[in-house]
Amino acid sequence: MAEREPVIGIDLGTTNSVVAFMQDGTPTVIRNRSSSNLTPSVVALSKTGKMLVGQIAKRQAITNATDTVYAAKRLIGRKFSAPQTQDAVKVLPYTLHAGEHDDIRITLGDKQYSVPEISAMVLRELKLDAEAFFGQPVRKAVITVPAYFNDGQRQATKDAGRIAGLEVLRIINEPTAAALAYGFGKTVNGKIAVFDLGGGTFDVSVLDVSSGVFDVIATGGDTYLGGEDFDNRIIEWLVFDFARENNLDLRKDRMALQRLKDAAEKAKIELSNTKETQINLPFISSPPGGGAALHLQKTLTRDKLEELCGDLISRTVSICEQVLVEAKVKPTDLKEMILVGGMTRVPKVIDAVKTFFRRDPCKGVHPDEVVALGAAVQADALTSTDSEVVLLDVTPQSLGVAVAGGYVRRLIPKNTTVPTSVTEIFNTSKDDQTTVKIMVLQGEAELAHQNELLGEFILTGLRKARRGEVEIDVTFEINSEGIVSVSARDRETGLQQSIQVTASGGLTEDELKRIMEEQADMLLEARSGEELTAKRAELKALMKEVEGLIPQLDKATQGSEFGRDAIAKAKTALEAARKAAEGPLLVRVNESADTLNRTVSLFKGVLERIK
Ligand code: AMP
Repeated sequence: MAEREPVIGIDLGTTNSVVAFMQDGTPTVIRNRSSSNLTPSVVALSKTGKMLVGQIAKRQAITNATDTVYAAKRLIGRKFSAPQTQDAVKVLPYTLHAGEHDDIRITLGDKQYSVPEISAMVLRELKLDAEAFFGQPVRKAVITVPAYFNDGQRQATKDAGRIAGLEVLRIINEPTAAALAYGFGKTVNGKIAVFDLGGGTFDVSVLDVSSGVFDVIATGGDTYLGGEDFDNRIIEWLVFDFARENNLDLRKDRMALQRLKDAAEKAKIELSNTKETQINLPFISSPPGGGAALHLQKTLTRDKLEELCGDLISRTVSICEQVLVEAKVKPTDLKEMILVGGMTRVPKVIDAVKTFFRRDPCKGVHPDEVVALGAAVQADALTSTDSEVVLLDVTPQSLGVAVAGGYVRRLIPKNTTVPTSVTEIFNTSKDDQTTVKIMVLQGEAELAHQNELLGEFILTGLRKARRGEVEIDVTFEINSEGIVSVSARDRETGLQQSIQVTASGGLTEDELKRIMEEQADMLLEARSGEELTAKRAELKALMKEVEGLIPQLDKATQGSEFGRDAIAKAKTALEAARKAAEGPLLVRVNESADTLNRTVSLFKGVLERIK
């Protein structure tokens, strides 16, 4: 029998990455060429112009801060203008730029790299380690991502795999992978929760496991909450005190910033085992006007760390609460709770999770390796014929299209098992509308602009007809990797347009609001357009009522300051209402109606009292 080609599972982490494979039926980590199970997800351009990856890159970070990239996972699939990127720009010692499409570019030496290219260098290193281990080429891999990664972040991770020369068999969710590894080879039956707090991201999932079927019931998380945030809190505390004592902002010095980052992480890790630790950074800076070098020396206690980061831990707990509600389970219904990610060694995190889930976490799971092991289990299941593992994952966030009025029509609710496909019929929202714009949104907000825009496309050539007469089928499909495709079809002509959604996310709420308003004419109609017409009429009636009340109030308040103020406010509200009534957005009409209703109540109340 021919040797089966090796397939690997990769946990591409924010801080460290791990590669594993199935060895004689047992998932096993492959050590890297430095005999370590963990490879730092760090890429650097050395002073001599060599590209370094892993431990060797991490080791020289302090002396080469501006050309050393870490935590690229926090940036993957994001836009440069996204708020998280702008936050990152402030604290990262390496330089970020906006690419042509508002994508993020990272400068190393005199070259610019996209984030997938940087992640690809880490993946290529893992591939080489695996090839050294097997003594033959490795081409196929399963790569894990946080469950809460959106479509763009998943696509970008897949791109990174492709750039590294890997055929990415499947992208799977980290907590699901952890559950696969945990349940592998055991007879686990029942519901389990996976709490995964890593270097950059947080995820929690609830799964129903029975006879090799891993069915994810609900998942939630935050792709910008992890160990890095804890480190940043320590850095802020150090920098703030240092600035107070020496009148100097250490963040402006990139080398100092890198030393602070290392010291903060080291202190955090030490405090998992001790109650108190020293942070010592001699010669951290020199005073602006010259003089003796400045040193930073401080004691950080576990209590202080918990005070600095208490809210971050609380955030993880509230996400757990929400996910359990969505999964319709109580903590006591769970069979097991699994902790994943380096940050679950922090005593306060363990306490918070134990209190919330009312149980001890399950033993024997290695938090750093379990995700890669699960990826290996899945890689094996996808390539062998005799695997008994079945994985049913869910989509972490709802998906829908923007519709007239400024709302979202949701086609696929969050926590729907994937793969899935849904078709719904929509109508044109204007008379003689020959074009529709399909704006694909991901998120839970009812107002379109508060969701993330995943992508958009236009279907043209519709028959000129009265509003609502032309019918369009919109189909959403999510494959088992959580990657989304959308198509729209004119039911009359069969004309069709489709896209595999590629991220255009990262637009701010304001930008999206502006796009929605500018393109309102091209949107679909999900509910009857009569709603907008009816609300407009209601608003116009309210405007009349306010206009009638103004002279009455003016007379009753006899030019007093209160009266003048109230009337000026009412006039501004009327002006806004006039615009809203003429505009295309139901949201605006509703907002204006609310304001005018309050004005009417106020005016009537005052008139009543004065009478
Ligand atoms: P991961 O992404 O799962 O590799 O987790 C990495 C994060 O866990 C980083 O922020 C590390 O600083 C943190 N970490 C690793 N070990 C410990 C520890 N013993 N105590 C506290 N934090 C840790």
